[in-house]
Amino acid sequence: MSAIERVEEPVISVYHARLGIVTDSSQWRRECPFCDRGMFLVGRDRCSFELQEYDHCIGCGQRVRYMDIEQMREKEAKG
Ligand SMILES: [Zn+2]
Repeated sequence: MSAIERVEEPVISVYHARLGIVTDSSQWRRECPFCDRGMFLVGRDRCSFELQEYDHCIGCGQRVRYMDIEQMREKEAKG
């Protein structure tokens, strides 16, 4: 057996609209509430370019799911 076990972090449900805005950045980037300097970049589907429901912090790696992804997509569609 391997000495190293990969433990999957649980996905935490968050509301994108309630996360802190990262100034001087793209409109979708948000501050990570789980660590000091991390942030969520909000990915896009490679084919459809839709904003993605699942994301992770580039600092601590915490995985999240946006509860308001539909509102985010609507907001972007409206411009
Ligand atoms: Zn983080």
